[in-house]
Amino acid sequence: MNDPVSETDHNSYDAMLAAVQAFHHKHDFRNTGGEELAYRVALMAEELGEISACVTKGKDTPKLAEEVADLMILVMGTAIAADFDLKAAFWDKMEKLMARESRMVNGRIRVSEFRDT
Ligand SMILES: [Mg+2]
Repeated sequence: MNDPVSETDHNSYDAMLAAVQAFHHKHDFRNTGGEELAYRVALMAEELGEISACVTKGKDTPKLAEEVADLMILVMGTAIAADFDLKAAFWDKMEKLMARESRMVNGRIRVSEFRDT
C-alpha cells in the first residue's frame, strides 16, 4: 500500500514522475550530489553512449528499451533536480514541432526552423 505507483497508474506521466521522485528520495539525491546538473548531464551522456552501443553492436530490442528507459529516468529526474515542469515543457515543444516544416537533408528527413538556409 506504500507503493506510490499502483499498477493502474502505469500509463500516467504523473505516476512515472512520482516513482522517479521516490527514487531520488530513497537515495537522498538532493543532498548527496545526485541532483547536481553537471553530474546529471554526464550521466545522461553515459546512458546515450549505452544506447549508441546497443545500435552499433546490434543488441536486441529489450536491451535497447532498458537503456532508453535509463535515459528517460535521468531526464525526468533532471526536471525534478532543476525544478521545472517537464510535462508542460513537453506539450509546449510538441506544439512548436507540429507547426514546423520538414525537409530532406542528405537523404534523411529533418524537422527544423531552417533559419540559416
Ligand atoms: Mg544504462
